[in-house]
Amino acid sequence: MNNTQPWEFTCKTCGGHKLNVTRVWKILAGPDSESWQEWGPLEADHHWRFKFKEKVEAEKDWDGDDEVDRWDFAEYTKDNSSSTPEEYEIFEPEGNPGNDRFYVNCANCDREIEFGWSQPNRGGLIFPVECSDFIPGGIWPEPRYLDSWHQKHWLRKGDNQP
Ligand SMILES: [Zn+2]
Repeated sequence: MNNTQPWEFTCKTCGGHKLNVTRVWKILAGPDSESWQEWGPLEADHHWRFKFKEKVEAEKDWDGDDEVDRWDFAEYTKDNSSSTPEEYEIFEPEGNPGNDRFYVNCANCDREIEFGWSQPNRGGLIFPVECSDFIPGGIWPEPRYLDSWHQKHWLRKGDNQP
């Protein structure tokens, strides 16, 4: 597909070269909450495109009532230059961070890969740490990996205090 990919990823476990980005979020549905997820490939330019979406089933509740909704997303790319502001927006409004969870996984074996963002507050592009162009100290960590990156001395200067 894209021969000009500027970075390389080779999975330590399976040798795969592709990465998926997954976003998981919860919505309140009456007394229960539902979890949904959407996912798609991380592209060569560190944008990502969600191609699939489905409800995450609760582990216990298999009464046949909850069928999985899945459909293909229309072409969607996170693109700040887009002139259509009503387009599907993936980022939480400020003040409600941490409600959504983002994951980067090997597309082949599903191993979780740590990653960071090119801008603070989960902004910009996604940079998995195992990509060849990852620059420690130049990327804002996904909040889940803050402690891990702190131990590795990967945090940007001044980022030690949130
Ligand atoms: Zn793998």
